[in-house]
Amino acid sequence: MSDQGNPNELSGAGKEDRKFDTKLIHFGGEVDAATGASSVPIYQASTFHHHDIYNPPSYDYSRSGNPTRQALEDYIAVLEGGHRGLAFSSGMAAISTAFMLFSAGDHIIVTEDVYGGTYRLLTGILNRFGIEATFVDMTKIDEVKAALKPNTKAVYLETPSNPTLKITDIAQVTEWAHAHDLLSILDNTFMTPYYQRPIEQGVDIVLHSATKFLGGHSDVLAGLAVTRTETLGRKLKYMQNGLGTVLGVQDSWLLMRGMKTLGARMAHSEKSAAKLAKWLSERSDIKAVFYPGLDSHPGREIHEKQSSGYGAVVSFDVGSGERAKRVLSSVKLPLVAVSLGAVESILSYPAMMSHASMPKEVRHERGITDGLLRFSVGLEDIGDLLADLEQALERQ
Ligand SMILES: *Cc1c(COP(=O)(O)O)cnc(C)c1O
Repeated sequence: MSDQGNPNELSGAGKEDRKFDTKLIHFGGEVDAATGASSVPIYQASTFHHHDIYNPPSYDYSRSGNPTRQALEDYIAVLEGGHRGLAFSSGMAAISTAFMLFSAGDHIIVTEDVYGGTYRLLTGILNRFGIEATFVDMTKIDEVKAALKPNTKAVYLETPSNPTLKITDIAQVTEWAHAHDLLSILDNTFMTPYYQRPIEQGVDIVLHSATKFLGGHSDVLAGLAVTRTETLGRKLKYMQNGLGTVLGVQDSWLLMRGMKTLGARMAHSEKSAAKLAKWLSERSDIKAVFYPGLDSHPGREIHEKQSSGYGAVVSFDVGSGERAKRVLSSVKLPLVAVSLGAVESILSYPAMMSHASMPKEVRHERGITDGLLRFSVGLEDIGDLLADLEQALERQ
């Protein structure tokens, strides 16, 4: 290929030697091989002409494959260091498609502070199809081990978890899972491959809500999956095609556009998040701060073993529901909304937003108190963000 001067191919040093920031820009589809165009063309087509009826084209129908979506799928596979990437219409489409690998009678061990939509999928939909889940505190390996049954087929992890940023030891859980012939699946939405590449630590399937940091601009809903092996890649592709949970081509393009700046955005936001976490932890009127980069975070050491950064999400307890609501209605800069991982800061109120459907006792048990706020730090000037939060916290 390099003979033909394809600028996407390296002629000298191997691609494997490239650093992550380089891979983000030179991922294989950054220059159109046919025309030299500086971005992947949007192949807005549902079907493809068979020039030679005896030799079907490599793409024949866009549910089964489309070159624009394929470029995105190859992109995320490169970033996560896996064998195959797949793109879906939302994070939940990626997650539900992955769960379709299981059958009636199968059992899955799931982290108890799993994303709310995943909890709903397991307890409100998949249970009707005979797929059973046990929720455990994954930070305690003994709880994971105790949940094993003869019909257990997988463990499902999320680290850091939402919104209290609990840390699970990926290698420890994955090693145990492999020893028991279980698949390991991890939702890597909060860290992204920029900070955490679970496949390198033995995880079989990595899932993303690309709606968050990967897309990064609060303008596209998408999900991604990456498999460690070819066999799993083939199986998941079969599910994606069979279920039709694919991502459209316009959104595939938009997502690639966003992903190119992932490194710059994450690095900037993390620097600010660290300042915010420190600033909050020095205030006597803040009850608790949750950020894996703080010395006080119980999971910090494990997190540092498996990730190269702490991310851009900081949760903190302002003491009461009344005060939380006062802050939410007084801030001027952040979007007050669900979601996270965008260029603009987003302030969420888990008790009334993402975790509203959880019974109050369970919610409190998991540390999601009435005073808990979740700050996803964007790209604004951190001084301005702190000043804004300060005036909101001073409101009586
Ligand atoms: C948002 C989110 C999801 C769901 O993704 P959608 O794109 O909203 O379908 C799954 N997991 C985590 C951790 C999320 O934050």
